Amino acid sequence: MNTIVTKFGGSSLADANQFRKVREIILSDDRRKFVIPSAPGKRNSKDFKITDLLYLCHAHIESGIPLDDVFNLISNRYKAIVCELEISLDIDNYLQKIKNDIENGASKEYAASRGEYLNGIILATYLNFKFIDAKDVIIFNKYGSLDTDATYKALNSVLSKSEKSVIPGFYGSDSNANIVTFSRGGSDVTGALIAASINADLYENWTDVSGFLMADPRIVKNPMQIKKITYRELRELSYMGASVLHEESVFPVRNAGIPINIKNTNMPLDPGTLIVKDMEPDYDNPIKGIAGKKDFTVISIEKAMMNTELGFCRKVLSILEQNCISFENMPSGIDTVCVVISDSQLKNKTDILVDEIRRTCTPDSIVVHPNMALIATVGNGMSSNKGIAAKIFSALSSNNINIRMIDQGSSEINILIGIENDDFEKGINAIYNSFN
Ligand code: ASP
Repeated sequence: MNTIVTKFGGSSLADANQFRKVREIILSDDRRKFVIPSAPGKRNSKDFKITDLLYLCHAHIESGIPLDDVFNLISNRYKAIVCELEISLDIDNYLQKIKNDIENGASKEYAASRGEYLNGIILATYLNFKFIDAKDVIIFNKYGSLDTDATYKALNSVLSKSEKSVIPGFYGSDSNANIVTFSRGGSDVTGALIAASINADLYENWTDVSGFLMADPRIVKNPMQIKKITYRELRELSYMGASVLHEESVFPVRNAGIPINIKNTNMPLDPGTLIVKDMEPDYDNPIKGIAGKKDFTVISIEKAMMNTELGFCRKVLSILEQNCISFENMPSGIDTVCVVISDSQLKNKTDILVDEIRRTCTPDSIVVHPNMALIATVGNGMSSNKGIAAKIFSALSSNNINIRMIDQGSSEINILIGIENDDFEKGINAIYNSFN
């Protein structure tokens, strides 16, 4: 292995002490050549994220309110880091310029990006690495979307000439030199693009948890850690709400077949979670994780001989499309089809949909089940392992939970069940306990 691209999240760089840990991690392995920092995050639950404060500064100016008080919180954080680390850097100068720019009408995205920019400069100085401004290598088109080709071209030309460097995450620029940011948490994407562009051997993503857990720790007490997972399994789990990584950050490295290692800055020896392209199913532990979400509505449509009626499902789906509603899932039987829609999509349009489906598709019955939760049980050992579904169903039934919907996608790495919202936490625990 030659090159590791290393991204540190906001909590890993929240204060001088965290910077010290980060430095030790980077210098402990010579293969860590390219480092991507986020902006300083929260130091405790009552603290503020620098990015949030920068957005707030911009909002103050837009509303004609002086930004001094908010900007002081930002200045004090950076000054303390530079002072405690005894770095020789004129941080006041950088801060003054950013303050002036925001006061003089700089864009919201410019303001937000300065958290990563300053952290990049501080970290590069502290490590004695080169600083590469992300505006020169992460390129957006005029519509604000990433220009992948231009980005890889710029990254290849700049990084091929650079030895150890720090490149701030979260932002880039467009062809008019305007700063553009990814969506929140986007430093993950910057790191993934850099890893893919140099075909790194590993993309490390350092955060404040030791990787993924088998279930949400707010629901299951002390869930087991996932040591290794495939991109596909991860996709199924994150779709269902389990999140550590920015969604878009997986695709560049996944396409290039580069593994991602989620690591904990506060416990650097912990192996974390390794995300890989392929792995042999673990027959002894066929389930990787359990995740779920609440607040779905299931519209269940029944019509005799539905299976012979050409275009029935198409008509149902075009009604959804005309009403700008996307659906999550569509399990079907011979004479029935269910459409699962999240309530945030539905936005109280249930009656309109039911009425249009009734008029256009003339079903025998149409029943609406609100307040539903979906739980996904995911694992690539599932397809070749007998009794997984039976275990899930008996765990739920012995906990007195009524299953309203079942769907096993053809990928056979996910069994999805629909239950009442009120049974959600109990259901996750029941499934988790039946496999552990
Ligand atoms: N600092 C940005 C945010 O808070 C980006 C990141 O942390 O990845 O969203």
